[in-house]
Amino acid sequence: MPRPIVASISISALQHNLAVARAKAPGARAWGVVKANAYGHGLERAMRAFADADGLALIEPDYAVRLRELGWNKPILLLEGFFDAADLPQLAAHDIQFAVHCDEQIAHLEAFATDAVLHAHLKMNSGMNRLGFRPEAYRAAHARLAKIAAIGSITMMTHFANADDEGNPDLPLAEQIKRFTDGTAGLAGARSVCNSAADLLHPELAFDWVRPGVMLYGGTPGGGTAADFGLRPAMTLRSEIIGMQQVAPGEAIGYGSRFVADRQMTIGVVACGYADGYPRHAPNGTPVLVDGIRTATVGRVSMDMLAVDLSQVPGAHVGSSVVLWGEGLPIDEVAFAAGTIGYELMCALAPRVAVREVQ
Ligand SMILES: *Cc1c(COP(=O)(O)O)cnc(C)c1O
Repeated sequence: MPRPIVASISISALQHNLAVARAKAPGARAWGVVKANAYGHGLERAMRAFADADGLALIEPDYAVRLRELGWNKPILLLEGFFDAADLPQLAAHDIQFAVHCDEQIAHLEAFATDAVLHAHLKMNSGMNRLGFRPEAYRAAHARLAKIAAIGSITMMTHFANADDEGNPDLPLAEQIKRFTDGTAGLAGARSVCNSAADLLHPELAFDWVRPGVMLYGGTPGGGTAADFGLRPAMTLRSEIIGMQQVAPGEAIGYGSRFVADRQMTIGVVACGYADGYPRHAPNGTPVLVDGIRTATVGRVSMDMLAVDLSQVPGAHVGSSVVLWGEGLPIDEVAFAAGTIGYELMCALAPRVAVREVQ
């Protein structure tokens, strides 16, 4: 007797999107990025769907180990490296590769006695100013890391701030590329720079490994929606109308009475709220499908419910199907209306929502 809200996750869509990512970068190997529980899609499920990836990359060390326990025997990469030197023996034992982004991590590796061969991904801060060595410090970090006997390979990596907005005046993409190219010139080893935006928009930057994330789930990095890039939505969040109200002009709907009807309206109440992961800050007018017909939210999203205008959906009834995002309603469109990005909606899917896996 569950609530009617269900997130359907399509395995074939995940597979299709990975194939798109690979086709954009035919000469490169591809990490499937599965951080944050595979952007809300389920780590184990994503692992099965991405059997064709050359490796899986994530942030959470405990889930990296979990992937090994689940039987993933290709490479695994921790994109932020290890957080605690005490984790190194376990990472080595499971052959888990890791980013190295700061001197403290190198010092821990120098002090780590092991017979294992470790694969490091040395991160350059090419302008985003989150993690990594600045270009002028990169070579010294590389040399120091290369001296450690256990280090079997060093991949050079960086991350772009504006791959979906290359003309951004504060940090043009070309500037980040130049810093990375100059800072790594002459160093032997593989290179990896592409997130989804770069994979989709800049195939010439594929180098040796690409790192697509959101595109695998049918989200798009910048403007546009999945279909513009030949991607399929992997997650469709569906629920039902559980109640209806006839509202007279001047009557208000929901907490704070944020929406006041200016005419006679039929309102549907949907079993979906912010405790399911729907954004509370979605304004009046956020798109929704009811029985396949596009309409919009009215009033504030509450914990377990939200309200929609049924004036243009004449056949709607208690039990009518509602799509919050996914098939027929791109997640990026809903996210845009709510002032956020598809990434955040996917990742926020709440544990109480039932998940149904479909082909
Ligand atoms: C999350 C992440 C990615 C994937 O980014 P998307 O925009 O989701 O494609 C790639 N590289 C690193 C280092 C990341 O942390």
